[in-house]
Amino acid sequence: MKDQHCDIVVIGAGSAALEAAIAAKGAGAGRVVMLEKAPEPQFGGNARYSHTGFRFVHSGAEELRGFVPQIDEALFRRMHLPAYTREDFLADLARVTQGRIDPVLAAAMVDGSNAAVHWMRETGVKFETEKTTEVAGKLYMSPGINLHPVGGGPGMLMALREIALNKGIEIRYESRVRALHGNERRVEGVGVSSPEGEYDLSSRAVIACSGGFQANREMRARYLGANADLMKVRGSRHNTGEVLTMLLALGAKTAGHWQGAHMSPIDGKAPDFETPVKPDGRGNAMNRYDYTYGITVNALGRRFFDEGEAKHSLTYAKTGRAVLNQPGGVAFQIYDQTGIDLFRHGRDYPATMFEGETIADLARKAGLEPAVLEDTVSAYNAACRADVAFDPSKPDGKRTEGIEPRKSHWAQPLVRGPFRAYPVTGGVTFTFGGVEIDTGGRVVNTSFEPIRGLYASGDVVGLFFHNYPSCTGQTRNVVFSLAAGRNAAAFARENG
Ligand SMILES: Cc1cc2nc3c(=O)[nH]c(=O)nc-3n(C[C@H](O)[C@H](O)[C@H](O)COP(=O)(O)OP(=O)(O)OC[C@H]3O[C@@H](n4cnc5c(N)ncnc54)[C@H](O)[C@@H]3O)c2cc1C
Repeated sequence: MKDQHCDIVVIGAGSAALEAAIAAKGAGAGRVVMLEKAPEPQFGGNARYSHTGFRFVHSGAEELRGFVPQIDEALFRRMHLPAYTREDFLADLARVTQGRIDPVLAAAMVDGSNAAVHWMRETGVKFETEKTTEVAGKLYMSPGINLHPVGGGPGMLMALREIALNKGIEIRYESRVRALHGNERRVEGVGVSSPEGEYDLSSRAVIACSGGFQANREMRARYLGANADLMKVRGSRHNTGEVLTMLLALGAKTAGHWQGAHMSPIDGKAPDFETPVKPDGRGNAMNRYDYTYGITVNALGRRFFDEGEAKHSLTYAKTGRAVLNQPGGVAFQIYDQTGIDLFRHGRDYPATMFEGETIADLARKAGLEPAVLEDTVSAYNAACRADVAFDPSKPDGKRTEGIEPRKSHWAQPLVRGPFRAYPVTGGVTFTFGGVEIDTGGRVVNTSFEPIRGLYASGDVVGLFFHNYPSCTGQTRNVVFSLAAGRNAAAFARENG
């Protein structure tokens, strides 16, 4: 194939890439070409496997009402929708990353989050409200996570792709970026491998939105530690990290936690890649996130972490790692009927599960040692504070006393049979190590200078450490894709 030229190359056709391409066009860019390695039916990266909730700063019910005009007024009034402030978001980020997140990028993301989600709506993406937990007639959600696009990730991707195509953006599928041209001061374009052959595509600017390296076994083993090559991958099989490797070879500086990744508890029978999405697209059918309402034991029948440390949205992304560190990399979530009644995940699809009238009966069915599980449950039940009221709508302080590890909230004795055990393993969602960008989405080199013409957004950017507050990935994508797209458009114009 002949060598070609365009104004802006966007690497990938996941959510960060689509948003960056649309933003670049909206800022007056000329020819924008998106290069997606996956075949067309698999375009969209990780968002295909997600309901794509958005965590963002907002002022509460009145503002959110504008996003969901389709919801019946009486139902909307039952929803508990307090404001989520700048301070709330920054505190959640600092807490879960143990204070390591870059404060400048964190502030840019938090401060840009409200405008970013409004931009999505103004651009044509429609929203609906998140799943709720009902307590005394009131409907509760996790603080700051109140909206996701209609149709979840698949719905959002279809909407964004249509917007991109209507703006004249070209999307090439089965087009793998195999080389980045330029050096540590200036990017000049990319080399592409496609079914028709190999060619060079020169451009004034390149926006890398190629995702993390979680689908690359060798890179997982290299960076994420022992047995990380055995992890199940929740999202796209195409996130294999070669563009990240090329960015580093070009001279990009690293950022984020290279031994860290988002790893969450998922159904023990999950496939190696691409866990199935619910039929309506609203979330992944193999998430097992209700562990706050029960206990989790390892294959030896013993608890190993504080299931009630905080709302699941602040702990689930590190809980998969805790499970993987147990013998065999598996665990069992144990519930009684009180916990099962509170499930927000896993109600509406079949999960791998065992049920028993007694704890010993349950243990036998799940393949656990009955005497050990009975001992674990009775010690836990005896340790639950009886003088504090159980309240699933907030961290209730109903904790255990005198056992290790303790359960800090929602410690209800497991007494109402039949009991259930859900076998889980840890699934990797996305990796935390990536390239460094500035607040304008410019990729920085190892001399701390922007590489001219090179921008990045999404999971290819290093930002998080240790853990992650749920539903921040999509918000981060929009904030930095808007910056990258707009700045790339301006750069291409100035250097045309
Ligand atoms: C199951 C699941 C649930 C999630 N739920 C949420 C949620 O509710 N809220 C939230 O905020 N986040 C969620 N996330 C995380 C979020 O989806 C990701 O952080 C986000 O999708 C990353 O976007 P991205 O565009 O950077 O990468 P991706 O969406 O992974 O896209 C990267 C794209 O680059 C392409 N690519 C890779 N290499 C090349 C190459 N060499 N040449 C060309 N193209 C290439 C890939 O094929 C892919 O299409 C979830 C993720 C998963 C897997």
